[in-house]
This record gives sequence, C-alpha cells and structure tokens, in this order.
Amino acid sequence: DVLVVGSANADLTVRVARRPGAGETVLGSDLVESAGGKGANQAAAAARLGARTALLAKVGDDAFGELLLAGQRAAGTELRHVLVERGARTGTAMIVVGPDGDNSIVVSPGANARLSPADVTDAREAVAAASVVSLQWEIPPETVRTAVALARECGTRVVLNPSPAPERLEGELLAAADPLVVNEHEARQLSGRADGGPAEWAGALRALGARSVVVTLGGDGALAADDGGTVAVAGVPVTAVDTTGAGDAFTGALATRLAAGEALADAVRFAVRVGAASVTKAGAQPSYPTPGELP
Ligand code: ADP
Repeated sequence: DVLVVGSANADLTVRVARRPGAGETVLGSDLVESAGGKGANQAAAAARLGARTALLAKVGDDAFGELLLAGQRAAGTELRHVLVERGARTGTAMIVVGPDGDNSIVVSPGANARLSPADVTDAREAVAAASVVSLQWEIPPETVRTAVALARECGTRVVLNPSPAPERLEGELLAAADPLVVNEHEARQLSGRADGGPAEWAGALRALGARSVVVTLGGDGALAADDGGTVAVAGVPVTAVDTTGAGDAFTGALATRLAAGEALADAVRFAVRVGAASVTKAGAQPSYPTPGELP
C-alpha cells in the first residue's frame, strides 16, 4: 500500500496575454478550477495506476474541499484520512499562465497549514500498514518530521519530495529519504552545487546523508542513485501540452513500484513513462494515466 501525507489545493487557473504589474489590472481567460496540490496529485497518480492508495490531508468544508474529494474519489483513493476542518478554507493555488506557458503561482495554504503532527499520530495505523509513505513540502515541516519519525518506527519506507524546496533539509530527514526525489532546481538548491550535473547533485545529496536520490530532468528523463549504482533513464519523447503536476505523477508512480518491491532503477524507468504521459494532457490530476494509457 501507498500512503501519501501532504497537501490538497484547488488550482484556479487564468491565462493572460500579459501579466499585470503592481497596481495594474488585466483581463484574462475564463477561470479553470481543478484538483491539485502535491499530496493530492501524488495520491491520484498512484491510485489511477491501480495501487492501493490512501491520502492523509486536510481540506476545508467549502466547495473547493468538495472538488478535492471528488478528484480523489474519481482516482480511487482511500479517503478515510482526508480530514475536513470546519470553518477552514481549502488550500488554493492561484495560477496565472502567461503567453509563453510560463506560470506565476500564489498558494494560499488554508487547511494544509492545519495538518498537524497529532493528525499524523492519529493515523498511525495507516503509516504502519503502508509499504511506502510519500511526503512533500507543502504542509508544516513539523508534520513532515512526525510522519518521517513514525514511518521509521514502523519500518515503512519514506519517499521524500522536498518541494517547494526549503533552504536546506536537516540530516534526519535526508537520512530517512529512500529516495529523496528532486527536480533540477531542488537538486541544485539542496546539494549546494549551483553548477555541476545530475550525477554530481545526486552524489552530493548522498554524501549529505540521503540513502538514495532520484533527480527528475523534465523531457530528459531522470537519474537514480543508490548503493546499487547510478542509472540515467532517458526521457520518453512526447508532445508536451501542459507540464503541470508532471513531477507529482512521477513521484506517485515511483511510490507504487517501490511499494511493490521493485528496485529503484526499475521503478524510475516506470515513473518516467508515467511523467511523460501526464504532460500530453491539460491539468494535473486530469492528465494522469491508467496503466493502459502509458507510452
Ligand atoms: P517537476 O514537474 O517537478 O519540475 P520535471 O519537470 O523534472 O519535474 O518532470 C518530472 C517527470 O515528468 C520527468 O522525469 C519526465 O518523466 C516527465 N516529463 C516532464 N516534462 C516532460 C517532457 N517535456 N517530455 C517528456 N516527459 C516529461
């Protein structure tokens, strides 16, 4: 089983011809609302691939919370641990897409900020039952720390995707990450090597204590490094329509294969295909493939 502990956000997207400066108003496209947030995305990706998946997250008792629940229901996620906090607002990501497809995003954490260490200990049974617990960085750090400590106590493997990247990660979190999953930006930031390449970043992160490291490289695929060696997995050429949530599709897919006992490099080969499939359709969760839809 896979347990994802993380964020759930309503993605509110508007396309604009030109982004507004301070004090300025511009008109944009119709608003598109879709289910997002790194935790909810990873859970949806894993569940759509057929893995038994649970999500521990917190939403508010508003329409956006309903949107998030509907997204998970459609994917087939176990919802028992999606907590609905009365009087709280569901997290939102206000996304402005410019003419070149470049995003500017403001996230309002809302209920995600209230996902507490106590919520994690209340779900102890789910942490113990899971083979893999997958975590990101859009919920309070102390909640991540509690989940990591509990997972280690229960012998549950930790997949840690420190995104959005903190300035640094403490040694205990690095030591628990098996693997640490980072994109290029996060790899540079957390390895302290602004220059260099994927193999160097992975080596530096392992030297800092990570048991294994996966660096995702967009259209160029990914690199996996563990005690078995370093393996570069080429990207799958596809026509990219929308890369929103590609990293989350990748990490959710990786978690399903690690939960099934696959070796890291094999799990990364599978995750690269899932990430590639996800960029061929619009949106985050709506773009996630079933096993029959993989390139
Ligand atoms: P993030 O979305 O976190 O920045 P990446 O951009 O590295 O992460 O993408 C994650 C994964 O999604 C990649 O490893 C790859 O499998 C897939 N992917 C992303 N962009 C493309 C693309 N243009 N073509 C094919 N696959 C892609």
